[in-house]
Amino acid sequence: MLTLAFAGLLLAAAPARPLLVTVDDLPIASSLHADPAERSRITEGLLAALAKHRVPAVGLVTWSHVRDAGDRALLDRWLAAGHELGNHSDRHPSLSATDAAAWIADVERARVELDAFLRDRGRTLRFFRFPFLREGDTEAKVDAARAWLERTGQRNLTVTIDDQDWSFEAAWVKASRQGDEAALAAVSEDYLASLRLSVRHHERSGDALLGRVTPQVLLLHANAVGAGNWDRLFTWLVQSGHRFASADEVLADPAFADLPRLPATHGFSLWDRLGAVRRDGEAREAVRALLATQAEAWTRGDIAAFCSAYAEDAAFVSPTGLTSGRQQVVERYRRRYPGPEAMGALALEVLEMRTAWGTEVSLLGDAVPSRVHSVSVVARWTLRRTGQPDATGLTLVVLRPRGGGWEIVQDASM
Ligand SMILES: [Zn+2]
Repeated sequence: MLTLAFAGLLLAAAPARPLLVTVDDLPIASSLHADPAERSRITEGLLAALAKHRVPAVGLVTWSHVRDAGDRALLDRWLAAGHELGNHSDRHPSLSATDAAAWIADVERARVELDAFLRDRGRTLRFFRFPFLREGDTEAKVDAARAWLERTGQRNLTVTIDDQDWSFEAAWVKASRQGDEAALAAVSEDYLASLRLSVRHHERSGDALLGRVTPQVLLLHANAVGAGNWDRLFTWLVQSGHRFASADEVLADPAFADLPRLPATHGFSLWDRLGAVRRDGEAREAVRALLATQAEAWTRGDIAAFCSAYAEDAAFVSPTGLTSGRQQVVERYRRRYPGPEAMGALALEVLEMRTAWGTEVSLLGDAVPSRVHSVSVVARWTLRRTGQPDATGLTLVVLRPRGGGWEIVQDASM
């Protein structure tokens, strides 16, 4: 009995998952609230829910939303309540839609303003949140943004739980202005259900990727639907095993030490980025292994095994022409290399490899990285045969997924 009771106690005391709440587009995220009194009420509602559940939040300021002294006073209320403020740009430009110089001009303008605002109040600017979570669609843009962050001493405050909380604002405001209680209740249910799904989905994927309970960074927006529903949201988060943690605690986790470098048009959660980088690495490794297996098969004189890597409909191009289909490729090799002495030992040196993938939309309506759809390889082949000089040349091989592995669909060898 005692032992059972003790075990029960241990289970009940299972450590809660640390979660950092971040709030984008301060002071007010939505353009639906021009009235200063309404802006003030929304801010009060958000801060009351945070205070009630003792949530230490980071608010990310979109400087073009700071219209006047009244809006500056709203930011002061966030600071007075013990929250931290970070930079989220001036006009919220998408790094995918602008060139790096124009984008940096915008985010730097906002940084200078917010930095001065915080210094006046004895605070320090530490965090930056990419608008739309878009970190650069080319390697050059990713590097330019990272260099700017480094130069200005800001840290990329990444998001692990990406969601669509902002999409409920218009319906909430409409119902609220019409005094439609039934519609408000319906929007509440949808808002909370969508957030519950996003939290569970992203936590599962983070835990699966890292093989442990991962701390999370939740993305919310400073809007009226949040002011009306955060109390219930935070209650559910605690009931479902979360603990509200500070930015310092959550970001100290190794998962946030070295953020994945992934040029992409869309904004993804950290776990989606990590997953994409991992799948990319696995695809490259699998293709290298396949080419190595092919070289071994060739070297032991096994043309059938060598050609098993080709797709049924593979196209093989050489200076002598186009060969279509795996069977024709097999026959071509058999004609040209009638025995082991003619075949010799094959070495394949990979000179470069590229992967192709894109963006898909998840069931939750979020942009997510796709699987790797193809791999292309430039390699140098060398044949060593006794009594003959080495033969060498280049090849360009294109592969696509087959079952759990890869197959060659196009091969241009010269
Ligand atoms: Zn934003």
